[in-house]
Amino acid sequence: MEHDTKLLGCSEADIAQAAAIIRAGGLVAFPTETVYGLGADALSAQAVARIFEAKARPRFDPVIVHVASWEEAERLWWNVPELARKLAERFWPGPLTLVLPKSQLVPDIVTAGLSTVAIRMPDHDAALALIRAAGRPIAAPSANRFGRPSPTHHEHVLESLGGKIEAVLACGPTPVGIESTVVSLLEAPPRVLRPGGTPLEALREVVGELRLEPPRVDQGAAPAPGTLPRHYVPETPLFLLAGGTLARGEKLPRKRCGLLAFRHGWHDFARVEVLSGSGDLREAAANFFSALHALDRAGLAAIVAEPVPEEGLGVAIMDRLKRAAAGRARLDATWVWISRR
Ligand code: AMP
Ligand code: MG
Repeated sequence: MEHDTKLLGCSEADIAQAAAIIRAGGLVAFPTETVYGLGADALSAQAVARIFEAKARPRFDPVIVHVASWEEAERLWWNVPELARKLAERFWPGPLTLVLPKSQLVPDIVTAGLSTVAIRMPDHDAALALIRAAGRPIAAPSANRFGRPSPTHHEHVLESLGGKIEAVLACGPTPVGIESTVVSLLEAPPRVLRPGGTPLEALREVVGELRLEPPRVDQGAAPAPGTLPRHYVPETPLFLLAGGTLARGEKLPRKRCGLLAFRHGWHDFARVEVLSGSGDLREAAANFFSALHALDRAGLAAIVAEPVPEEGLGVAIMDRLKRAAAGRARLDATWVWISRR
C-alpha cells in the first residue's frame, strides 16, 4: 500500500502528530540512540502486522517493545525478577534489551509466538517523547526494508521505506549507530542473545556471570540453524496442506485434528481457527500466532494448516507454516487423510 510519507521534525507539535498516527494504528519511523526504528502500537496486532508488511520481511521475527518508564515494562512482563530492575536502574534509558515472560497485554505477533517479550527504554529524547505522547508502548524493529543495512539517518529510512509508511521523525543521525545488546533473564546466569550497544563488561559488573553461547537448539523441527530457539514452533504435529485449499465435502478423518484455515472453517474438525474471513492477509498475520497457540493448546493429535496466498504478508505466514511443518514424523494415514482428488 502506498502512503504519502510525512517528513516530521522533532518539535513537540511534530511528535504529537506522530503519536496520533501511532494511536490510529499507523507506522512512524523514529530515531533512537541505536538506529531508526519502525514504530507501531505494540498493543495492536494489526498495527504490528503492518511493520512486517512495510519491511517486506519474508518471515516473522520477534520485535523489541520500546517503553518510556519502568512501570510500563512491568505491565508488559509477567513475573519480573529483581535482577531486571537492577539492570534497568543501571542501563535504562540505553541500548540494553531485556527478555522476560510476557503478560497478556502483548499480542502474539509482537513476539512471533514466543511466550517472552524483549523490552527496552531508548536513550533518545524524541523516542521517549513519542512513546509518552502515544500513551502506549511502541514495537519497533530497525526501519529498513528486509536485507538492507540498519538506518542510522532519516535519509536511509526514506530511501528504504518512503511511500510505505505514514511518517518519519527526521532528527538527523543516531548517536550509537549499532543495535542494542539483547539479554535473556529466563535463565541464570543470564544469556546474551545479541551483543550490541551495551558492553558486556558493564553488564558483568551488575550480573556477575553471563552466558555467551547461543541457546541450545531444541530437538524436533530444525529450521535455519540458530533461529529455532527464538521461534515458537507448535508442539502438536502440523501438516501443511499441499495443492491449495480443501474442497468442500472432502472426506477427512478430522475428529482429532484442528484446522488452521485461511478464510473458511470446515466441518468435523475438533477445532477450527479462521485467520481472516475476508481473506485479508494483514488480518491473517495479526491473528496467526494466537490462532496457532490456541490450536496447540487444545490437546489435538494434529494441526492441519491451509496454505495462504504467497504475496504480501502471506510470504511470512507461509514461511512460518513451512518451518512448523518441517521435520515432523508423518502422521498415521488413518488419522488424517487429506487429498485434493
Ligand atoms: P531488531 O528488531 O533488528 O533490533 O532485532 C531484535 C532482536 O531481538 C533480534 O535479534 C530478535 O531475535 C531479538 N528478540 C526480540 N524479541 C525476543 C524474544 N522474545 N526472545 C528472544 N529474542 C528476542
Ligand atoms: Mg534489523
